Amino acid sequence: MRKNIIAANWKMNLSKDEALNLIKEIISGYNFDTNTDVIVSPPYVYLDQIFQVCKSSKNFYVSAQDCSFNDNGAFTGEISTKILKSCGSDFVIIGHSERRINFKEDDEILKLKIQKLLADGLRPIFCCGETFNDRNEDLHFKTIMQQISSVLFSLDANDFSKVVIAYEPVWAIGTGKTATKEQAQNMHAFIRKIIAQHFGDNVADKISILYGGSCKPSNAHEIFSQKDIDGGLIGGASLKSDSFLELINIINEVSRS
Ligand code: PEP
Repeated sequence: MRKNIIAANWKMNLSKDEALNLIKEIISGYNFDTNTDVIVSPPYVYLDQIFQVCKSSKNFYVSAQDCSFNDNGAFTGEISTKILKSCGSDFVIIGHSERRINFKEDDEILKLKIQKLLADGLRPIFCCGETFNDRNEDLHFKTIMQQISSVLFSLDANDFSKVVIAYEPVWAIGTGKTATKEQAQNMHAFIRKIIAQHFGDNVADKISILYGGSCKPSNAHEIFSQKDIDGGLIGGASLKSDSFLELINIINEVSRS
């Protein structure tokens, strides 16, 4: 049985008070009879405070939005995986397209980051996604194959089983354009197939693959009801408790039916 996950990527948004209010509203609206994991990724500076609010709530986890691949030391402005762990982080988002594009993070950097965070007991939420041009030129499967194989296929099966994958077409992030349910399902099935080919069916069956890209209550039902889609990585719609809670309810609903 795979885990359903709804993950919030708050990015560089929300003041401290807004972030604390938001997490409290989410926890108080969450139905604890269900089993969907909720992961919230606040800005680094509130990580510990958000963790203090979440830590006694079953199914709630905190994630960082990035990490350094260096150990502790003279790296001004960077945050190490050990620091993140000490502030309650269980996950780290790796390879978000905003970091790949704006901060020039390539596969070599992502590989180092994943190795470091796994070694320090954290779990990666690994983002992959094709550009609009890739899709137009029918290169989207090739791009995803390349992003996943070059960063994740050097892991052993035990480490790989700790990974959560987020498929996020770059053209859908923050644009209001969403992949159709067929586009999303086809890509998720492809990702699961290449994982099965590399690590075996057992590993592939257990990996949670999230969809991200302008996912909101009005389009989530048809996306989350696809058989290889195990939840979402949510940007804009995670900044308000009502829309975020609705997304959690939708994944619960479709996984019951
Ligand atoms: C994201 O940045 O990971 C994301 C999915 O953003 P949005 O939901 O706003 O498209």
